[in-house]
Formats: sequence, structure tokens, C-alpha cells
Amino acid sequence: MQRDLKRLADETFDLLIIGGGINGLATAWDASLRGLKVALIEKSDFGGQTSSATLKIIHGGLRYLQHLDFRRMRESIRERSALLRLAPHLASPMPFLVPTYGHLMQGMEVMAAAMLMNDLISCDRNRDQPDPDRRLPSGHYLSRRATLDLAPGISEKGLTGGVIFYDGQMYNSERLTFSFALSASAAGAQLANYVAAIRLLRKGAHVTGARCRDLETGAEFDVRATITANMSGPWSDIVLGLLERPDPPRRVVRSKGIQIVAPQLYDKVAVAVPSAYVDPDAVLARGTRNFFITPWRGTSLIGTTDTVYEGDPDAFRITDRDIRDFVAEINQSLPCAKLTREQVPFAFGGLRPITEKNIDTGSTVARKYEIYDHEQDLKIGGLLSVIGVKYTTARFLAEQVVDATFQKLGKTSPRCVTLERPLAGGKTGVWADFERATLAAAPAGISGTTMRHLAHSYGTDYQLVLDLAAREAGAAALVPGAEEVIVAEILHAIRNESARKLEDVVLRRTDLGTQGQPSAAALAACADLMARELGWDTARRAREIAETAARFQFVD
Ligand SMILES: Cc1cc2nc3c(=O)[nH]c(=O)nc-3n(C[C@H](O)[C@H](O)[C@H](O)COP(=O)(O)OP(=O)(O)OC[C@H]3O[C@@H](n4cnc5c(N)ncnc54)[C@H](O)[C@@H]3O)c2cc1C
Repeated sequence: MQRDLKRLADETFDLLIIGGGINGLATAWDASLRGLKVALIEKSDFGGQTSSATLKIIHGGLRYLQHLDFRRMRESIRERSALLRLAPHLASPMPFLVPTYGHLMQGMEVMAAAMLMNDLISCDRNRDQPDPDRRLPSGHYLSRRATLDLAPGISEKGLTGGVIFYDGQMYNSERLTFSFALSASAAGAQLANYVAAIRLLRKGAHVTGARCRDLETGAEFDVRATITANMSGPWSDIVLGLLERPDPPRRVVRSKGIQIVAPQLYDKVAVAVPSAYVDPDAVLARGTRNFFITPWRGTSLIGTTDTVYEGDPDAFRITDRDIRDFVAEINQSLPCAKLTREQVPFAFGGLRPITEKNIDTGSTVARKYEIYDHEQDLKIGGLLSVIGVKYTTARFLAEQVVDATFQKLGKTSPRCVTLERPLAGGKTGVWADFERATLAAAPAGISGTTMRHLAHSYGTDYQLVLDLAAREAGAAALVPGAEEVIVAEILHAIRNESARKLEDVVLRRTDLGTQGQPSAAALAACADLMARELGWDTARRAREIAETAARFQFVD
């Protein structure tokens, strides 16, 4: 998969998608599979913004029980099962422990009833799941003793026990997002990263595509399409502003959320810890909002925060203060954590868009996705704006956007097939068998650790990486300082996965930087390869290293 700007400029598309986060990519995949001619432009890297900010939870929507929103809960349950089925290399079940206190809303009685309802509402969650390791067990409750054994150090005052429920967890959310890009590309979509929409093209009251800028060269060109979908997440009001109409600006408020990577606090279950946040929407308000301490590949991933963000979304960054404040909040809520700022090697985050409808209902957190057909509200044809609020349900949102696109095109839509079609690399069959076979197929010189990592990162496509490792001198070697990433993965990212910048390789195509800053030697080795493959000069190489290193430094 490579960007082809000439084709983008020369051809006319049925659908132009602005924004290559999970929602735009899932839409490109579905629309292409249903036979539409699709273009997608992304001004940073695919999945480089909000979609790489997640806590990596594939939510079944248990919290919608608080709002008695069974429809959304069913949606989330179905989509959680879908991701576990379509990308078994990148998604697996994770037990969550909710400690219970007293006999009111946080009490065992209420939580046990919630568990029961959750199990009932999701009784078909494993129906199409052939792999026993990817099935989600029923919830159950634990005694006080068993709860403390699993989560020592949680507050014992009034503790009555705990409830376990199961959700999914992403092994590598960036690769999961990218597997949607690969799948869309394989289905025929034209995707380009580092291309920004700078103006919406119009013929009278009809949008006909977008004026675009190649952010690598500054060159401008038009992408023409019958329907344009603004899927730019927290930028959606800004992209709508590219219509250059005198309308009052859309009200989209943004909230900032961060997660931190920390030493492992709990290794068997994710633990919900009550924080001071009060949820104003909850019908069965439990008074506080939880943050989660989730075991993730030998670390604890802790999140998420939620504060109003008033700046320009392009200026979003995580400050050292953000991290220090969150560390203090964690220590206050869970004194046994004794976490220090120095123990946090990495933090990441993003912005949640809070749409007009959600503002009107008084919500501080966007709860429902929105699809606006601007024919209806602005009398502008050919333009949709879509705002998603959850990674987990992106496939379903995409299905509706593609249905709406067909409707606007005046065509009958073929059946959506993305519920049945494995994502790129996802046709592994039963995971344990696949992993065993992968380990058995290890070529000389490639360790079991690397093979396991390749199986998880690329699924059935790991052979593409091994082929490169066999063909190119030195490509089977580990990247200097890395424990499992090999040089062939970097070559694969550059040649076959449209990696254009060093941080694309380090943060989103390989695992080099997913848990903290890679060594200087690793950055230098990657930059050398990219310079050789992409023709960078010395200044560009140095700039890329500095920019990537800066992603791991947090200042106030
Ligand atoms: C802190 C945090 C934690 C979360 N945790 C979870 C979780 O655990 N599980 C879960 O299911 N959900 C989670 N979510 C929600 C989820 O991350 C988002 O709903 C989802 O990623 C939004 O995807 P998107 O494609 O709409 O937006 P984005 O990923 O932001 O994609 C929009 C893209 O549009 C691009 N763009 C903007 N302007 C232009 C332009 N002019 N031209 C071209 N491209 C443009 C941007 O660069 C961006 O990449 C979390 C969200 C946050 C903030």
C-alpha cells in the first residue's frame, strides 16, 4: 500500500473521505467492498490522532446500563465480538474487576444485578466465535478475600467483594487501525497520508470534492468526488469551515484525555478505581467515574482523564503537568500504587469531540455518534459530516455512513459484508493453533519471541516480513536495542505500509515506541534505513530523529 497522488488527482471518486482515523478507514474499507470508488486523505498519519489515544479497550458498553440504553449496549456487544473475530491477532478478552462497597449503588447487590443483565443482554456474544480463547466468559462475583488477592491495595473500607466482567483488549491499537487501512487498500480504496483538505470544492450548492495539499511537497491538487464525508473527528467543525460559508461556526467542544504507561500494578485483571469525576448523565449514577488500571504487555496502562480542552486541536500536546496531576490522582485513589512521575516512560492521549446534540443535552462527554447530511441542515448537497465517539463501534458507524452514501448517490446498496470479512492478517483460525504453527515455522536466526510478536502484529501477513528478512542482508537482525522488532519490519513499513516519517515506523507500524522511548541506537538505525529508502538528506534525517524523540518528552 502506497500513496498515489496522481491517481487521486486524475480520477473521480464516488466517495472522498477526509480523515484517516479508525472511522474514516473503516468507512473506506466497507465502501470499497460494496463497490464504491473511494479516496481517503489524512493530514497526519493513518490513525495518528485520536485513534492512537485509546485505552485499548474494546468496550461491550456495560456503562450504557447506567443509562438503560440497551440499543447502544447491543451495538457495542456485537462490535466487540466482531473485532475479536475479525482480528484475533490483535484483540483478545480481558477480565475487569469492579470492587464493590457497601450496599448502595457501588454495592454487591446492584453490581451483581448489572452482571446478570450484562450476561443476559450479551447471551449471543460468542455465537460466531470459533476460537475458545477469543470467547468472552460470563461475569461472576468474588468474595472480599478473592478481590483483595487479585487487587491488593485497593481501599478496604466497606469493601464487600468484587465483580468480574469481560471486555476485549487491543494488543496493538495502531496496528489494528492500520489493518483497516490495509483492508481498504486491498479492496481498492486510494488512501494517502500527509495530505490535507484545505478547501471544499463546490459547484453551486453541491460539494464536489476537496482542494488538497500534499504536506510533503506543498503541492496542491483537487480530489473530485460525488460524495464527500468529513470524518475528521475532533477537527470536524474546522473541516466544515472549509466550506467558506458565512454560517455561524458549529459548536464542537473538545475534551482532553490521556493515558499513562506505568510499571505493572496488577497482572491478572484490569481494575476499576473510583476517581473524583461525577457523571451528570447517569440514570443509576454511582457518584463517581472510574479510571482503569489495565495489564498491558508487561506494563499497566492507566487511563483515562477527561478535562475540557479549549485550544486549537492542532496544538494538542500532553504536558508534564498533565502526567504529574494524573499520577497524583492515581496515588490519591490508590495509595498503594506509590507511583512517581519518573516511573512513567510514556503517555499518550487525544481529544474527544462533544457535538452540538450532546452539548444541548448537558453532557460533558460525547455519548452518541452523529451523522449529518448537510443537504438537510445547510442545504449543501454531496456532503456528510460524521462524528464517532468510540473506537469499538467504528465498523458499525462505517456501515451506516456507507448506507447513507448509497442513498445520496441514489443507488441500491449491496449488502454490507464487514461483519464476516476478516481484517488484513486476521484469517488466523484458532489463535493457539496459529501461534504454535508460527513458532514451529521460525527460520534459523529468528527467535521465538520475535515470531510471537510477528504473529500478533501482522497475523497471517507475518510471512511478508519474513520474506523480506530472508531476501535482504541484515534484515533478519533485531533493531539495535529492541527485544523483538527486526529490521525487516522497518523495510516492510516503508515499502508496503506507506510509512513516510520516522514516527510512523516507531509509533504506529512497529512496536518500537509503543511502550516508551526506543534507544538512540534504534532511532538512528531506523532513520538510516528510511534515509536510504526514501532519499532523505542529513538534515531531514536529523529532523526526523529530533521530532520522534520529542514525542517521548513532556514539558510544561
Ligand atoms: C483518551 C481517550 C481514550 C479512549 N479510549 C477508548 C477505548 O479504550 N476504546 C474505545 O472504543 N474508544 C476509546 N476512545 C474513543 C476513540 O479513540 C475515538 O472515538 C476514535 O478514535 C475516533 O476516531 P476518528 O476516526 O473519528 O477520529 P481521529 O482518529 O481523530 O481521526 C480523524 C482524522 O482526521 C484527520 N484530519 C483532520 N483534519 C483534516 C484535514 N483537513 N484533512 C485531512 N485529514 C484531516 C486527523 O489528522 C485525524 O487523523 C478514546 C478516546 C480518547 C480521547
